[in-house]
Amino acid sequence: MKVLVIGGGAREHALCRSLSQDPAVTELHCAPGNAGIARVATVHPVDQLDGAQVTDLARRLGAALVVVGPEAPLVAGVADAVRAAGIPVFGPSGAAAQLEGSKAFAKDVMAAAGVPTARSYVCTTAAEAAEALDAFGAPYVVKDDGLAAGKGVVVTSDREAALAHAASCERVVIEEYLDGPEVSLFAITDGTTVLPLQPAQDFKRALDGDEGPNTGGMGAYSPLPWAPAGLVEEVLETVLQPTVDELRHRGTEFSGLLYAGLALTSRGTRVIEFNARFGDPETQVVLARLRTPLAGVLLASANGTLDQLEPLRWDDGAAVTVVVASEGYPAAPRTGDPIEGLAEAEADGSAFVLHAGTKAGEDGQVLSAGGRVLSVTATGADLAEARERAYAAVDRISLKGGQHRTDIALKAATA
Ligand code: AMP
Repeated sequence: MKVLVIGGGAREHALCRSLSQDPAVTELHCAPGNAGIARVATVHPVDQLDGAQVTDLARRLGAALVVVGPEAPLVAGVADAVRAAGIPVFGPSGAAAQLEGSKAFAKDVMAAAGVPTARSYVCTTAAEAAEALDAFGAPYVVKDDGLAAGKGVVVTSDREAALAHAASCERVVIEEYLDGPEVSLFAITDGTTVLPLQPAQDFKRALDGDEGPNTGGMGAYSPLPWAPAGLVEEVLETVLQPTVDELRHRGTEFSGLLYAGLALTSRGTRVIEFNARFGDPETQVVLARLRTPLAGVLLASANGTLDQLEPLRWDDGAAVTVVVASEGYPAAPRTGDPIEGLAEAEADGSAFVLHAGTKAGEDGQVLSAGGRVLSVTATGADLAEARERAYAAVDRISLKGGQHRTDIALKAATA
């Protein structure tokens, strides 16, 4: 099977790594890819938001499956274009990806499907926003309605700051604050059958102890030893299946990866947000534990045959990923610096380095090319061992001004 992956971050590197280990995959391509992906796939310079360009490339390559990684091409309808050309594609239509593309749409779907989530108001004026903030009280949660690459949400006890964020967006969703630990649960679906993966937790804040600004994610781990037994079954029954059914009944069938960001609050499990694609960096740890070859699973989603798939097989151990970000991330990341020690980090085989924002320099050098630069990932018998291996690998890498959190999975590993 020839497979084409769209995207160029660590999530796509994780997807490409798993696909490259699947004996069913005879050729692996990625567009646009990055310097790390280029080691396991043939990379192609393509505008990933251009459905015609992506379809054209898939046709030329004779791809039997196209996997769309990031949200922006999905919302732009890239999967629709590929599907219209008769090529199986993993990823929802642009209409179904509105589940991520519009927080207001997601709230509407959840209300119709009876899915538990924070109570909320959609606001377009300053007066509406002020009224909604006062209805819920502090801490305030203000979300840009549209795609904002992880930067659209402000959680603050400062009413002025909450109002200012609302004023800077065209339309916002203001909702009640959810307390309790967060869980990311991914499910693969073909629009009818829903197959949950293993839960993971990510770390959104830039600094140790969950301090500093929100980021795209600074690390992740799986499994969650502290999570209540039966969590996955509960979320399948109360969140994932009703959402997939509601979208199908609306005529906007959702196939691909449904990501539920959950808060385990004192009053029960609540949805914080939906995403329409694999999460980054949780994918890095979830796929590190998946034993079932990946291509067949993604193809079954694309072809609508998930009900015929054998149960997924998982590694009993744990996985931890630590993100190495560039100096200044997230506000003003500096790029173009050489990265050293990549081979050394992988030398003993206990960890692997997934590239996020990198590009090839001269003489085989690898240069930083984004805010999040690398996802250093390791598996182990338990979280403590996986953590130790991931951090040992991080220590062998040097990037001028590079930053990483030192407490990824710490609490869970020592609990
Ligand atoms: P989102 O982009 O919706 O995932 O939001 C980013 C982060 O903001 C989440 O991971 C949460 O930590 C936080 N957040 C979002 N919504 C809420 C809420 N209703 N209550 C508390 N925290 C929230």
